[in-house]
Amino acid sequence: MAQAVEPGPDFSALVENINVGIVVVNRDHEIVCWNRFMAAHSGRPADEVVGANIFTAFPELPERWLRQKLRSVFLLGHQAFSSWEQRPYLFKFPHNRPITGGVDAMRQDCTFFPLADASGETGYVCITIFDMTDASIYQERLQRTTQELEELSARDRLTWLYNRGQFETELLAAFRHRERHGGHLSVILLDIDHFKTINDHQGHDTGDAVLRHLAACIRNRFRVSDVAGRFGGEEFALCLPETDAEGARLAAQRLRQEIHDEPAVHNGMAVSFTVSMGVSEADSGMPDPEALMKEADLALYQAKEAGRDRIVVYGENGAS
Ligand code: GH3
Ligand code: MG
Ligand code: MG
Repeated sequence: MAQAVEPGPDFSALVENINVGIVVVNRDHEIVCWNRFMAAHSGRPADEVVGANIFTAFPELPERWLRQKLRSVFLLGHQAFSSWEQRPYLFKFPHNRPITGGVDAMRQDCTFFPLADASGETGYVCITIFDMTDASIYQERLQRTTQELEELSARDRLTWLYNRGQFETELLAAFRHRERHGGHLSVILLDIDHFKTINDHQGHDTGDAVLRHLAACIRNRFRVSDVAGRFGGEEFALCLPETDAEGARLAAQRLRQEIHDEPAVHNGMAVSFTVSMGVSEADSGMPDPEALMKEADLALYQAKEAGRDRIVVYGENGAS
C-alpha cells in the first residue's frame, strides 16, 4: 500500500542560507542557482547572474579548465573535486581575515556533482564552494614554522654557522658527490690559539665576540658553495668542494691574513687573536669523511706544535 509522504521542509531556504557557495549550471552553462554565499562574496546578486552564461558573467574564471570539469561531470555523471592545494580558488573572492600570511584571496575546495533534470538525465551540475582560507593560513604557518625549526636545529646559536651535526651531513654529501663525479674536495679545520687566555683575561663575553667575529670573517671570505660549521667550542671546519689542497691553503692564508688585519672589537676595544689551521684533501683511498677530518685534525695538531698562528697541509711540512 502506498504510504502518504509528509510534505518536507522547503530546502531552498537551506540552499540559500548555508555557509557554502552553491552554483548550479545547465548544459548551456547558464546559471540557474546562485545562493547567498555566492552573492555576498562576489557582490553580484542572484537576480543579476541567474540566467547568464557563467563564462560571460565571470570572464575571469579559468574557462578551459572549468569547461573540461563540467563536460566530464555531464558526460560521466560522476562527482569531481578540486582542492585549494592544486587550484587556490575558482572564484576570486576577497577574504576577511586580518592576518593573511600571504594568502591573497579566499582559498576554495570545490565539488562538482551531477543533478538530474525532469527526465532523469544529468541536466545540471551543482558546484559547491567551501571556504578553506583558515586551513590554508594554518598550513602555511605550520610550514614556515617547520622550516624555521629545521634551520634553527641546523645552526649554532652564537655564530649562526652550521652546527657540527649539519656540517657533517653537508660534508658527507660533498664526499659522496666527489666519489661519484670525481674532482677535488678539501677541508680546513681551524682552532683559535690560546682562546682560554682570552676568556680568562678579558672575559667570556669578549671570547664570544671573537667567535662571532671569526664566523663573520669566514662568511665573508668563502664561496656560497663552501660549507662552514662551528665544530666545537673554538674550533671551526670548512668544507671546500672543487678545491685541491693548494687552493684550500690559499683560502686559509687569506682568512688568516684577514684575522690579522681586522681584529675583533668588543666594547670599543680591539681584541687581537690568531688561529691555527689544518688542511687536507680527499683522495680516492679514503673510506669516509671522518678519515678526511682526521687528517685535517693531525695537520692542525702539527700547526699548534710548530708554534701556532700558521697553516699546515696534511702530508707536507712533516705532517703525516
Ligand atoms: P690552543 O691554542 O692550544 O688551542 O689553546 P686554547 O686555549 O685555545 O684551547 P683550550 O681547548 O684549552 O680552550 C678552549 C676554550 O674555549 C675553553 C672554553 O672555555 C672556551 N670556549 C668553548 N666554547 C666557548 C664559547 O661558546 N664561548 C666562549 N667565550 N668560550 C668558549
Ligand atoms: Mg684553541
Ligand atoms: Mg680547541
